[in-house]
Amino acid sequence: MNYFFTDEEQMIIETSREIAQKKIKPVREHYDAEGIFPWDMVKEMANAGLCGLYIPEEYGGMSPKGSKGIMQLVLATEEMSKVCGGIALSNAASALGTFPILLGATEAQKKKYLPDVASGKKLAAFGLTEAGAGSDAGAMRTTAVKKGNKYILNGTKQWITNGFEAETYTVFAMTDKSKGARGCSCFIVEKGTPGFTFGKKENKMGIRASATTELIFQDCEVPEENLVGGKEGTGFIIAVGTLNHSRPGVAAQALGIAAGALDESLAYARQREQFGQKISGFQAVQHMLAIMAVEVEAARSLVYAVSRSVDAGATDFAKDSAFCKYYASEVAMKVTTNAVQIFGGYGYMKEYPVEKMMRDAKITQIYEGTSQIQLNEIAAKLIKESAQKKK
Ligand SMILES: Cc1cc2nc3c(=O)[nH]c(=O)nc-3n(C[C@H](O)[C@H](O)[C@H](O)COP(=O)(O)OP(=O)(O)OC[C@H]3O[C@@H](n4cnc5c(N)ncnc54)[C@H](O)[C@@H]3O)c2cc1C
Repeated sequence: MNYFFTDEEQMIIETSREIAQKKIKPVREHYDAEGIFPWDMVKEMANAGLCGLYIPEEYGGMSPKGSKGIMQLVLATEEMSKVCGGIALSNAASALGTFPILLGATEAQKKKYLPDVASGKKLAAFGLTEAGAGSDAGAMRTTAVKKGNKYILNGTKQWITNGFEAETYTVFAMTDKSKGARGCSCFIVEKGTPGFTFGKKENKMGIRASATTELIFQDCEVPEENLVGGKEGTGFIIAVGTLNHSRPGVAAQALGIAAGALDESLAYARQREQFGQKISGFQAVQHMLAIMAVEVEAARSLVYAVSRSVDAGATDFAKDSAFCKYYASEVAMKVTTNAVQIFGGYGYMKEYPVEKMMRDAKITQIYEGTSQIQLNEIAAKLIKESAQKKK
């Protein structure tokens, strides 16, 4: 489909595609097998200006005036995820860690932290989840107690993408447990702050080039200037706003993985012969390919539509954001599973990329809100909207 990209968008697609094909593709298998964090690829992205696509120009980024740059981030993430969803995530997860600053920080905080992320000199990470607080983020136990001009953080964050590798962490902690969600605050914690260490790096099913690590806070002293927005109690609003802005990025990762699997399947079906003919000649295979293509394009249309709407200034887009995250991640899982089917036994082997794509796809149904949580949010909004219409 022709999405009538602007010249800037076309340039982002071509630049990202070149990095994906020339730099990421040759290393993806090795980085996946060894769990290597792709710093050399982050440098490629940084040199190409891809680290600041969603950060306004005044802070060193490339997000055009009057836009949030979500579409730009989505296009880059899609292109790179076509080749490796794990490597592409280094930049997308940095965006996740940066949105709390973009959405809630003071001008001084933005000036201090955004330029280094935009230039790719530093990565960011988002610390919300804990062992007992996943979908139910409100159950978090990490605390931040004010002492003089500092906050003392105690607690452990689990499964944090870019953990250890990032320099800038947006961390959520309870400043007043008695207030429930209104007692949560967000802090910017720099790597190297005394009392802030890292736990184990996870050994994962997929996205193995991405680092997933525990963040441990033991009497960690964070200067009060690092309370995001300078106001206690805004953490939950910032976290929800962040996820609404970042979910199109996960959807783009899912879309890219699915599109990559479709490309691989088409190429394989055109060359693999059985019963004296190419398997692309069997209608059963053709129909699988056709359905995969329809679903990839439907996911793409939804991801782009939501991203453009957010960029254009939509204010109430939580449901739209959940729509595209839910749909694209379900498509990614289905399409990559069918890609393995089209490859037959070869698809199950590590010599071919589709088994990795299937492993990588799975996470998109889990993080930044599971598929069930997306459906909960969509249903709650639909019912509320319907009730409002009746009035
Ligand atoms: C590789 C990886 C990277 C991650 N990166 C980050 C990161 O950078 N930062 C961060 O903060 N977190 C991160 N996470 C955490 C991620 O966001 C959580 O894993 C996710 O939100 C789900 O939480 P949970 O795993 O505790 O599952 P649970 O919440 O325990 O859910 C278990 C199951 O129950 C279902 N369920 C739970 N509640 C409901 C409900 N109300 N209705 C219906 N079904 C429900 C879920 O859908 C799921 O199927 C990461 C996780 C992984 C695996």
